[in-house]
Amino acid sequence: MKHFLVNCLWVSASSMMVLAQTPHAPYAPFTARQAELGKELAAKSLEIRRQITDGSAPAEPFRIIGNLYFVGDANGEVFLLTSPKGHIMMGAGAANSTESIQKNIESLGFKMTDVKAILLNHNHGDQSGGAAHMKEKTGAAVMAGFGEIPYMEHGMFNPPAIPVPAATDGRGGRGGGPPRYPPVKVDRALFDGDVVRVGALSVTAYLIPGHSPSSTTFAYTVRDGSRDYKVVEFCCWEYPDDLSQNGYITEASVRHTFETFRKLYPVDIYLELGAYAWGGTLDQPSGTITERMAKLKADGKLFVNREIFNQFSAAREVEFEDKIAKLKTSNH
Ligand SMILES: [Zn+2]
Repeated sequence: MKHFLVNCLWVSASSMMVLAQTPHAPYAPFTARQAELGKELAAKSLEIRRQITDGSAPAEPFRIIGNLYFVGDANGEVFLLTSPKGHIMMGAGAANSTESIQKNIESLGFKMTDVKAILLNHNHGDQSGGAAHMKEKTGAAVMAGFGEIPYMEHGMFNPPAIPVPAATDGRGGRGGGPPRYPPVKVDRALFDGDVVRVGALSVTAYLIPGHSPSSTTFAYTVRDGSRDYKVVEFCCWEYPDDLSQNGYITEASVRHTFETFRKLYPVDIYLELGAYAWGGTLDQPSGTITERMAKLKADGKLFVNREIFNQFSAAREVEFEDKIAKLKTSNH
């Protein structure tokens, strides 16, 4: 993901140092041990992420579990939840990965015109850059968190949470410059707890402001054999160190996110936009991103692990409390 925001790496060296001095506990049901493991997961995820040099390069599609498929690019952006009465696509990939994504969908035996809804996590180009193309090819309704829509409809990234000086190289962008991907008309604004239905499929949207104004997590149940699995595609964790300086993230909105973690708990399958942060990718002792994805393709059960969501959530709460505490101390 070529995010321009200053700190996509959510465990910074400075926060880890302060954490060592003033350990905050996550809130029940999450534990301090889970928070420690969550920090390790995040570090592992960053390490794996470095191996993805071209996020929009083609990737092989595969069935994750039940009626849920990965159809995205090398970065791992796009999922397809299928039903006999129509499919839901989550993520649209980058503007230059649409061809390979379409090929993936069709090679699995699905028709583009059977996609009835396209859900977009947030307004950045790796997620929404292909949305206009996908909308045209499928005729599906495009849906996104309400705060993302103005940016999507202008084909631009939201300005960073902490304003940066306008670009002086004539290209603009960082402060909200010219369009960076084909604009897409959004048909439905999603608000917290909204449910999207296509046939028997049902996906619930939860707003998680942070990485963007209303970045959106999608939760749904997938049946495989005789078991139901709760899947969460999380988006997106990112908070600046100095929360007092940002334009749209507040302590109150993050505390709402913590409540959302508890609504989502427990989670059987944890997904993120990037394959480097999928639970199934991280829950392997070793291997390159290519090797890890090949194993997931061969055995979807590798995705099932209830601890991944707990560990990430616990670590995120601790990280945030640490930042808030630091901010309050520096204000004295
Ligand atoms: Zn992004």
